[in-house]
Amino acid sequence: MSILNNFYTRLLRGEPLGKTSWVNFRESDFRLSSCIILCFVMIGLILISLVLNWYEGQTHLLAPLALLLIGPSISLLWIKFRPRNAMLPIMVLVGSLMIMGVTLLVNGGAPNWSSLLWFIIFPPMAMFSAGLRGGTIMFCIFFAVVAALLCSPLKIFLGGEMPASLGLRFLLVMLGAFVFSWFAEYTRYHTRKALVEAMSRLEQDALTDPLTGLGNRRDFQNYFSWVSGKSARDQQAFSVAMIDIDHFKKVNDSFGHEIGDKVLLHISGIITSQMRAMDRLFRWGGEEFLLLMPETGGREAILAAERMRKSVASTPYVNGDIVLHCTVSIGLYSGGGIEKVNEQIAEADRNLYSAKSGGRNMVVG
Ligand code: GH3
Ligand code: MG
Ligand code: MG
Repeated sequence: MSILNNFYTRLLRGEPLGKTSWVNFRESDFRLSSCIILCFVMIGLILISLVLNWYEGQTHLLAPLALLLIGPSISLLWIKFRPRNAMLPIMVLVGSLMIMGVTLLVNGGAPNWSSLLWFIIFPPMAMFSAGLRGGTIMFCIFFAVVAALLCSPLKIFLGGEMPASLGLRFLLVMLGAFVFSWFAEYTRYHTRKALVEAMSRLEQDALTDPLTGLGNRRDFQNYFSWVSGKSARDQQAFSVAMIDIDHFKKVNDSFGHEIGDKVLLHISGIITSQMRAMDRLFRWGGEEFLLLMPETGGREAILAAERMRKSVASTPYVNGDIVLHCTVSIGLYSGGGIEKVNEQIAEADRNLYSAKSGGRNMVVG
């Protein structure tokens, strides 16, 4: 089914055909694809009916049947040129299905009423294309119209006399088809929703450092590729700051890991509060952070790093009696997007080493 969905959606949007995953397939894509498939099914059924009726000499049915081609054709054209608005073509499709049903009741049907069999596919069609709410509303309208035609004085509009028990049985079967379709759509919708939520949670967890909530090394690699690619395209420099807390081992040794963790959070909070909206801070590992600064040259990077260094040095961590004055050393890389990520990080790391050997609490760019 997913292959069919993808195929039709891409075909009609003029996109190249290929593999896409279910997870990237949005709910509106599912609606649109169902609508497209149903349009083709409906056009096919109408064409077959036209041939059959012509063969049987029922020429009075040909014109109303041909008119019914308008609904699904408008629907398909709408999707082709305005693929973002899914609801309108779906309404046109389901609306034309309803008109088709009523036409069958009023014009065809009698004396054996075999054409009523087509009505049974209306509930799944409405449900899968318009969704739980839209499908239920449309089914209720259609059911009310059909019930009125079969079981009320409006019977006079039917194409012939129908036995009362046949009408009632027929309505019950339609109701049954609706209940089954409702459950099928309900299960599909909620299973898929839970799956997509679980996938995005897992994806988020895989990219997040649980202690600080910052992006982790993997997240950094993703963002870095994007930033360095953009920087190469725009011929604009970007900078990376490798930030390491000075003598952090002593914090752990003197106050324990729990306080150590809180200090990590404290310092990442200070740096985050100092950076611009487009910058992003990542936890590289242990007590080391990487700050990625797009569209930032060497001089600006040094100024930004100095601001952060001073901010950390002047904001002690306070917890009851414990007051800790922490400092950070920062190594910078600034340049374009041509070199490999490892070389850029290695340069920041070398500068960090110089900052450490130069006495700590300093920035080297
Ligand atoms: P330097 O100034 O040279 O960077 O010295 P340092 O003590 O900061 O560096 P070192 O690499 O010797 O020690 C880093 C310490 O960071 C060791 C480790 O226990 C601690 N650490 C790493 N990750 C965590 C963490 O998640 N929580 C806590 N509490 N400590 C951590
Ligand atoms: Mg370190
Ligand atoms: Mg350190």
